[in-house]
Amino acid sequence: MSQSIIGQGDTCLKRIEYDFFHDTPVVGNVSRLIGSAYHAGLAEGYAALMRGETVNVDDTVSAATDAFLKGVEWDDYVDKPVDEFSWTYQPKTYRAPHIELRPVEATQIVGQLVRYYWQPEARNTQVIAVEFRVNLPYPGAPAGWDRGGGIDLVTVDDAGYLLVDHKTSRKKWAKKKVSPTHPQAAWYIDEWRTYANTDQVKFEFDVMAINLDPETLLADPSLERWPAPRTQAQIDMTLERGRDLAVLIEKGGPFLPNPESFLCSPHYCDHWKICPYGSTLNL
Ligand code: SF4
Repeated sequence: MSQSIIGQGDTCLKRIEYDFFHDTPVVGNVSRLIGSAYHAGLAEGYAALMRGETVNVDDTVSAATDAFLKGVEWDDYVDKPVDEFSWTYQPKTYRAPHIELRPVEATQIVGQLVRYYWQPEARNTQVIAVEFRVNLPYPGAPAGWDRGGGIDLVTVDDAGYLLVDHKTSRKKWAKKKVSPTHPQAAWYIDEWRTYANTDQVKFEFDVMAINLDPETLLADPSLERWPAPRTQAQIDMTLERGRDLAVLIEKGGPFLPNPESFLCSPHYCDHWKICPYGSTLNL
């Protein structure tokens, strides 16, 4: 179990059914891939810092653009070729214009974002881990379930450990995005506490707001850091949510669709073409 499965279930349980029980097409889109490639660029730089080297920004840009070009054709997460790829960065809404990117534009945006990050923004603390992954026992969960997930960055100073999750976002985040209903912070705080056997653990989201303009493209990116403290009770309830979801998956459902979500859309749901609920109810 990872916190991303809980997040997927929050959006729509039907997605869980397709992810676990159906062989669905692998769908890529440019917005998500810009985020993955940006992660790869930051990981390259922080891995250098962890080795005691300085950050070579050109190397981080190369890592990011290589990840982008590969990701158009291959999905590392499921380790399968991409069956279809959308270059729609942003569908038209009543507030936002439609933005369709060309491959060269998208690649440039990835490079510019990574360069922007390393200007004044990089953290200068001791790096302990980059893209840290571990599977831990999951007491109380059904047999065979452990808990894991990837922490983008772990640093340490006199105050203890800081876990950082790197996000890209179309716009600046609002405060509600760091609410305790979001499972990620609680999940990773507990993961590192358990793994490192310490209580001195904090969590922050580093959010790169891309602010893409249809005419000038990457004119106004900005980076904000959002601390996300969690109480022990909030951590316990987050772990309980994971157990509940594991029980439901073990039972084989039922997995209710959520066509009310704004993410139930051909632009945001990878299962749109095979799920009759969204395409029937949200046309
Ligand atoms: S199309 Fe809508 S209902 Fe179907 S899986 Fe996607 S989000 Fe859920």
